[in-house]
Amino acid sequence: MKGHTTPAAGCRDVPVLKERGQREVFCGLTGIIWLHRKMQDAFFLVVGSRTCAHLLQSAAGVMIFAEPRFGTAILEEQDLAGMADAHDELDREVERLLSRRPDIRQLFLVGSCPSEVIKLDLARAAERLSSVYAPNVQVVNFSGSGIETTFTQGEDACLAALSRELPETDASNLVVVGALPDVVEDQMRGLLEGLGIPYVSVLPAQRAGEHPAVGPNTRFILTQPFLGETHAALVGRGAQHISAPFPFGEAGTTAWLQAVADAYGVRPDRFDSVTEAPRARARKAIAAAARDLTGRSIFFFPDSQLEIPLARFLTNECGMTPLEIGQPYITKEIVGPDLDLIPEGPVLSEGQDVDLQLDRARKLRPDVTVCGLGLANPLEAEGLTTKWAIELVFTPVHFYEQAGDLAALFARPIRRKNLIRAMHPNRMEAAE
Ligand code: SF4
Repeated sequence: MKGHTTPAAGCRDVPVLKERGQREVFCGLTGIIWLHRKMQDAFFLVVGSRTCAHLLQSAAGVMIFAEPRFGTAILEEQDLAGMADAHDELDREVERLLSRRPDIRQLFLVGSCPSEVIKLDLARAAERLSSVYAPNVQVVNFSGSGIETTFTQGEDACLAALSRELPETDASNLVVVGALPDVVEDQMRGLLEGLGIPYVSVLPAQRAGEHPAVGPNTRFILTQPFLGETHAALVGRGAQHISAPFPFGEAGTTAWLQAVADAYGVRPDRFDSVTEAPRARARKAIAAAARDLTGRSIFFFPDSQLEIPLARFLTNECGMTPLEIGQPYITKEIVGPDLDLIPEGPVLSEGQDVDLQLDRARKLRPDVTVCGLGLANPLEAEGLTTKWAIELVFTPVHFYEQAGDLAALFARPIRRKNLIRAMHPNRMEAAE
């Protein structure tokens, strides 16, 4: 394989520290924020509480649309009085929404964690509503509940639900799975087109009618490591997974493309001619940002589920030393190729017991700590430099042209800390 060397002993088989204690992560509803931007004729109707509505409002920040593509149907305590009433109320909400918004072609009923919602059978509701509004509107349900999902699992649950509904085909095609920003998707399509890969489609597509068909001659490759349930759903439909490291950084992108090229028998000279120029650009951009990263240590709290591929990128392409790589859950079938490329050494942890993990981070005092928003401020106050995991999901970071930006995301907090240290040396000493 070009673009990277496999270490003598990677991390695939190192013992994993499994923790099942209190965890500090967002819930899967967060994924709606990036999914609704991608799927332009979809509406995400969260069936939830006021808390869910507040989460969505604050996660969406200042984005204001004339016609928003997500909303919350708030179930009150009294709705518990009769489930039949709750279903009727939901039907009325959907009727109101769809009559006002003829542009909606896909309606997602998104479950949440209040007990009133858990008791409501949203799968049955989706089936009932689908039969009413088909073929104009497809109604699908998934759960974004904080009890069942971490924040990137919302996308997984959504795409898994979609995968089960995709039309059947015997034709040969390649499905690239994961919601990428449009500009990144265009770059990825350009690279695959350059390699001569036929019949490429993406899941999710921008519009309902453009979702791919799947069957036994479908190959699929993931762009996000958190798509475990979607992976299982597609395999269940007979599709074949192309296993690869994730397309972060120059080497990760090259390895990802190489896996596709190998599956389709692309000639090495064609591969080289398509990838040579963007590889050189990516290497140059990474080198500029990596000046502040080389020789620094990094600690990942489990959050976005991107931790293992990012640790591979930061170790092999930016010269960082991972001390602990925590991921909410580790599916080796999916992140195994990245684990193979991370030299043995860091603690690999799955799940979380937040107090124990905080103790480990405080003891190790890494140069950069990647964690959720809730942990970042307290750790900053203790003098640690942090990077919010959620930024990695909201920022375009995949493929060659974003490789420099990805490295820069980690370099920025170090530069900021150095600047503050230079301006206020006494204050920094006190914090540390
Ligand atoms: S789904 Fe659960 S965790 Fe998420 S906002 Fe609603 S109540 Fe909170």
